[in-house]
Amino acid sequence: MDDLEILIIGAGVWGSAAAARLARRGHDVLALDRWAPPHAHGSHSGRTRLARQSMHEGADYVPLSEQTFAMWGELEAEYGVEILRRDGALLIDRADGPLNGASRASLDLGGWDYEIWSPERTMAAYPALHVAEDEVAIWEPGARLLFVEPALAALQEDARRHGARFALGEAALSWSVDGDGVQVKTDKRTIRADRLLITAGVYGPDLIGLDLPLQVERQILVTWDAGPELTGAPLLYWIDPRLGPDSGAYGCPEPGGGFKFALHHEGVVGHPDSLDKEVREADLQAVRDVLARRIPGLTRAPLSATTCMYTNTPDVGWVFDRHPAGDQVVYATGDSGRSFRYAPAIGEGLADLVEGRPRPDLAFLGADRFGA
Ligand SMILES: Cc1cc2nc3c(=O)[nH]c(=O)nc-3n(C[C@H](O)[C@H](O)[C@H](O)COP(=O)(O)OP(=O)(O)OC[C@H]3O[C@@H](n4cnc5c(N)ncnc54)[C@H](O)[C@@H]3O)c2cc1C
Repeated sequence: MDDLEILIIGAGVWGSAAAARLARRGHDVLALDRWAPPHAHGSHSGRTRLARQSMHEGADYVPLSEQTFAMWGELEAEYGVEILRRDGALLIDRADGPLNGASRASLDLGGWDYEIWSPERTMAAYPALHVAEDEVAIWEPGARLLFVEPALAALQEDARRHGARFALGEAALSWSVDGDGVQVKTDKRTIRADRLLITAGVYGPDLIGLDLPLQVERQILVTWDAGPELTGAPLLYWIDPRLGPDSGAYGCPEPGGGFKFALHHEGVVGHPDSLDKEVREADLQAVRDVLARRIPGLTRAPLSATTCMYTNTPDVGWVFDRHPAGDQVVYATGDSGRSFRYAPAIGEGLADLVEGRPRPDLAFLGADRFGA
């Protein structure tokens, strides 16, 4: 039986970030992954992510935003890669809409620059966009386009350089508490570790095994043939009253050309193994229907499309906690489709929880908010 200090199940963006922070602190870390990230079997598929500074989900996230941008910058400098590109973002919502008020509050709290643009001003700046009369845009100049592959590669390189090991293509099947530590059965061996961190993305709910209100939701990412009208366009995020209450649409330029435009939520929920991994014509049509209202000229054929999954909580907040089976087991789940940009700060927070350090600022993410 292999014996080690800290085992991480899931080396996606959360697990890789945690591996790097724990390795930097001198721990002996092994991160297992069933696949070899980046891959298209979980929550990080696609080439880009929006990295806004604003966080309309709550003021508690504001310090994490600040920390995460600084940490991505350190990784860029240390590994000589471009992870974030400062494209700016327009967040479009009804003038009295929930996204608008909460986003502005978070920008005020963080002390970040922003401007409020009328529909006329927004459409004069970006004629390809349609903004309704009762909407406004928040122009957030500090928002960045985040590149998935170099981001994950830098986190993993950082982990490796500080001594962490990765076992890719090895799936954890089950775990149990073993005295002060844990035993984990994989499809290749049994591992004993002093501490366990579960960051298994959409398979987290299965491995955590608690009665938490988590739902895995299928999402579609579509890159459209953009043409000249969207050249130089920033990141876009809309709340759309015709979609569900937390739903919206978003877009961004893609590296190598094309413009990503997709829906946030509005997907089928189910077990990750049973959700359809193919993109169907009906999926594309649902995006086209919203696109026609928002970027009416962008009706060319999609260049590429892929599926991805969220693990949602009812309050769209993450869940970071100790497992009731034992303090030596920490789990992180419920990404709710908006955590890639926070990965370095999340890694630091999870490293603290694994070490047993107090993080009162992360208490709002505890499972007790669901009565668990
Ligand atoms: C369509 C879409 C758009 C998004 N847009 C944004 C955005 O614009 N901005 C933003 O910040 N966030 C965005 N997100 C969210 C962000 O990508 C996720 O929150 C983030 O990837 C979650 O990381 P994770 O490490 O939890 O999951 P993952 O990156 O999926 O990692 C989990 C890992 O665990 C591994 N694993 C699972 N089970 C096992 C097992 N039994 N044994 C071993 N390994 C296992 C998997 O193989 C996987 O590699 C988006 C997500 C989607 C789906």
